[in-house]
Amino acid sequence: MTDLRRSAITGWPVAQSRSPLIQGYWLKKHGIAGDYGRVAVAPEDAERFYRDLAASGLTGCNVTVPHKELAASLCDWLDPAATAMGAVNTLWLDNGRLCGANTDGLGFLGNLDEAAPGWDKTKGAAVVLGAGGAARAIVWALLSRGFAPVHVINRTEEKAKAIADHFGRDVVAHAWDKLGTVLGQARVLVNTTSLGMMGKPALDIDLSGLPQDALVTDAVYVPLETGLLRAARARGNIAVDGLGMLLHQAVNGFERWFGFRPEVDAELRNLILADLDAAK
Ligand code: NAP
Repeated sequence: MTDLRRSAITGWPVAQSRSPLIQGYWLKKHGIAGDYGRVAVAPEDAERFYRDLAASGLTGCNVTVPHKELAASLCDWLDPAATAMGAVNTLWLDNGRLCGANTDGLGFLGNLDEAAPGWDKTKGAAVVLGAGGAARAIVWALLSRGFAPVHVINRTEEKAKAIADHFGRDVVAHAWDKLGTVLGQARVLVNTTSLGMMGKPALDIDLSGLPQDALVTDAVYVPLETGLLRAARARGNIAVDGLGMLLHQAVNGFERWFGFRPEVDAELRNLILADLDAAK
């Protein structure tokens, strides 16, 4: 009998995911006899699939849309980030117990720690554009490093309010047209909307009120250098792209499934950049 450990990206759909490339890179680099694939889980099958993950032959898996909340609700144990978000992106089995984590926030922090060491030394206000899944993870991450208040600005204000209600009084919701009233306080500005992404409208905001020592980062990584990052750099702000968030969020899952903590290195980043280029 083989003890090959198997993991996969699971969701609906999964064809676009770059997780197999990332995990496969580490498996090969470290000579680990494991496998990381793709498993498309239709919505009508999702509850049964995650409830009995062992039956699929997987040691664990990543979870992507639309199953992150459902999978969290089926877990016997959740890490603090997944508990706070009510959503998981990483599952593993521990003596038959289904355990879940949300590593998107850790990926956000790992990216900034690597690209802009000391970025969180001076605490203060943060401004987050958008109120979807990425925003929730990033709000959690900013709060965990002591940033407050975290202003969440969204086209649909109710969704920003839902995040503020969820996280409590350190998070303040605003309508999109209120950005100018909070930008002047920002130590950190993060775009988590899909604006600026290839094929989507540009993110058209006025940065003139932003302090010049504020850090600017974008969850969007296609293109790597978004209009926001370009505009921020041009006026002297430190700007960090979003690809590192994708790479760093994958570290904890690999460690859980394959028993080794891998590093995000330049070769991995170049591999994903080449794949993004090829997909253009
Ligand atoms: P999501 O849950 O669908 O949220 C999308 C957000 O974008 C919402 O706040 C939405 O506002 C806003 N938005 C979309 N179109 C807009 C428009 N025309 N004008 C103003 N706001 C608009 O998506 P998500 O999962 O949070 O992902 C958001 C982005 O982050 C995507 O580009 C994704 O690729 C990226 N991301 C990157 C990473 C990474 O590792 N770097 C991880 C996760 C996500 P409404 O609420 O008003 O619709």
